[in-house]
Amino acid sequence: VIVGVTRETAAGERRVALTPETCRKLTAAGAQVRIVPGLGVGAHFSDQAYADAGAVLDPQALAEADLVLCVQPPEPAVLATLKPGAVLVGMLHPQADPARAEAIRARGLIAFPLERLPRTTRAQAMDVLSSQAGMAGYKAMLIAAQLAPRFFPMLTTAAGTIRPSKVLVIGAGVAGLQAIATARRLGAQVEGFDVRPETREQIESLGGRFLDLGVSAVGEGGYARPLTEEERALQQQRLADHLKGIDVVVCTAAVPGRPAPRIISAAMVAGMKPGSVIVDLAAETGGNCELTRPGDTIDSNGVTVAGPLNLPSLGAIHASEMYARNLYNFALLLLKEGRLVFDWSDELLAKTVWPEPPSAA
Ligand code: NAD
Repeated sequence: VIVGVTRETAAGERRVALTPETCRKLTAAGAQVRIVPGLGVGAHFSDQAYADAGAVLDPQALAEADLVLCVQPPEPAVLATLKPGAVLVGMLHPQADPARAEAIRARGLIAFPLERLPRTTRAQAMDVLSSQAGMAGYKAMLIAAQLAPRFFPMLTTAAGTIRPSKVLVIGAGVAGLQAIATARRLGAQVEGFDVRPETREQIESLGGRFLDLGVSAVGEGGYARPLTEEERALQQQRLADHLKGIDVVVCTAAVPGRPAPRIISAAMVAGMKPGSVIVDLAAETGGNCELTRPGDTIDSNGVTVAGPLNLPSLGAIHASEMYARNLYNFALLLLKEGRLVFDWSDELLAKTVWPEPPSAA
């Protein structure tokens, strides 16, 4: 099996789908890894490090690959150069772009968009949504700390006492919990809320306080479901009051397959103290705050609202290390004695493959 890796060309993307570590492991598993020169430069992995890990450097590497690894979905023009029938693994979001979907079909590629991977216990080591969300939550809180005109921790100094910042994290999934942990490490007073009741214990175990807004909304697969109008009104009313006392908000709320829920209205921002900061990690899917401008930071009557994009790329080294391990673990489902074998009775393959499992079952 020849393994190839795409060069990431999306603006601001520094991560890479293969690290020297996973290159070595794939080679040990019987694969031949071929990479284009400069592959890992965005994440500071040198050609030499890959070569030492068994990779062959080849400017035409992709064209011969049987298994292609990527972070962002390749452009249709790149897809058209892949070997017909090649296997493609990464965050592909084929439904989001008809031209790309068509290119995958036209080339007969066997695509495994990892955002479709069932989130079962066995799949945890391959869960790119979780590994990347952890970095996103961490960086979002650091951006918030940087933008805030305050200390996070309580300080007792010769110039008097400084009160700790009050931080609120909206949505306590993987990103939100990492944001809470990060704010705690910086010494802030942290609260979090979510519509999944089990997050109370998770927030508290990190030293945060669960903010109970009286709304619980668990849907399919244990994920959040969209709120009804009534639930949304209740959440908003209670939150509006609470936000008046908050210094920093990090938003992470999401509902799978939908635009981000609108949770903070412009009126709620207007009620916040000048000098407050909102960092909206949900900017990518439209934002949890009405004022969020994806990719931009604005000031609204003294309240800073930031909508940073592709936060995992800011931590490209560790984000790549985790992402590449996720891909390696997934690749092991396919690699059998140096060949690619598809066991369609394995739900991790059958439910992830796109468009539909080949009938060869
Ligand atoms: P996500 O990114 O889809 O959503 C982030 C959070 O926003 C979620 O916690 C969600 O409940 C919350 N949310 C949605 N609407 C909200 C609203 N109106 N107000 C407040 N909060 C709202 O979620 P995620 O971080 O990808 O994953 C969270 C879920 O996935 C959890 O159920 C988690 O246990 C599960 N998960 C399971 C595994 C596994 O291996 N079994 C791995 C990862 C995640």
